[in-house]
Amino acid sequence: MKHVNIAIFVPHAGCPQHCSFCSQNSITGKDRLPTPDEVRATLKIAKENLKEKSCFAEIAFFGGSFTAINRGDMLALLEAAAPCVWDGDFSGIRISTRPDAIDEEVLTLLKHYGVRTIELGAQSMNDTVLRMNRRGHIAEQVCEASHLIHNAGFSLGLQMMTGLWGDTAAGALQTAQEFAKLKPDCVRIYPTIVMKGTELAQRYRTGEYLPMNLEDTVELCCELLEFFEANSIPVIRLGLHSSPEMQQNQIAGPWHPAFRELCESRLFLRRLLLFFQQERILPGDVEIHVAPQWVSKAVGQSRCNLQELVKLGYSAKIISDISVQPSKFIVHPSLI
Ligand code: SF4
Repeated sequence: MKHVNIAIFVPHAGCPQHCSFCSQNSITGKDRLPTPDEVRATLKIAKENLKEKSCFAEIAFFGGSFTAINRGDMLALLEAAAPCVWDGDFSGIRISTRPDAIDEEVLTLLKHYGVRTIELGAQSMNDTVLRMNRRGHIAEQVCEASHLIHNAGFSLGLQMMTGLWGDTAAGALQTAQEFAKLKPDCVRIYPTIVMKGTELAQRYRTGEYLPMNLEDTVELCCELLEFFEANSIPVIRLGLHSSPEMQQNQIAGPWHPAFRELCESRLFLRRLLLFFQQERILPGDVEIHVAPQWVSKAVGQSRCNLQELVKLGYSAKIISDISVQPSKFIVHPSLI
């Protein structure tokens, strides 16, 4: 069943400091906490829109440090949302928060109001990187919060970033390995984008911070996708959402509106070439069958995968085939 998040943004709410890269107001297009009435109104509209669709919908409080919001405001938001869960209109609530804002007391409250999933903005598991980017917590707190969340029976999400100031590709892969030890139910990966008005933007202007380029970021995120897939951890988001505010406010960095598609397309090509090598498929004509929804990824942006294959001597024809699983391929035997 399709999963849908009804996102309610609480930009920067509860954050005790400002992380070097963060501009939630630009990313979310919101500049204040919603009122409980606004939450109820949003959910009423969402409920109407979802009526005809068979989907698994969760109410998602994103964009801030939910459990660090002033307790009265946090409870008012949950009280506005929870009845929709208790009435069965939505399957649960998910929140994102900081690792240092989790304890047993707040977990008990969240459970009472129907929160099922807690996503921790961890960003890196390297304390130097965390300090340089003014996260205000250390990696050990991510471990402690993750254990508390699991022990209390919630689903755990972990969010990481690539290309942070002071980080490297090897550092991001190390973060992924540390994440895997915490057995999250899902992860999100966000490449660092330099946003207007942030500390990182100042460092970029002075030349102190150089963002990763798109090509290197795609390569790194392919590695991360493969790693999490090998560890059976779903990557539920790769790249920032595309919005007019996002596009207007980004200054530099590996931004692409279809970033995940770029990575999945690159990974597809890698796996195909490995298959050719292992099966000793020599250059020539090949017919490659893929699931219908994977045709554009197999072809690549601006046909880049097909062009890469041509460079290697393969003239490939991509065939949409409902018998093939998403992300898999079958090279037609008669043409091998
Ligand atoms: S990254 Fe998270 S904790 Fe840091 S300022 Fe942004 S919303 Fe707050």
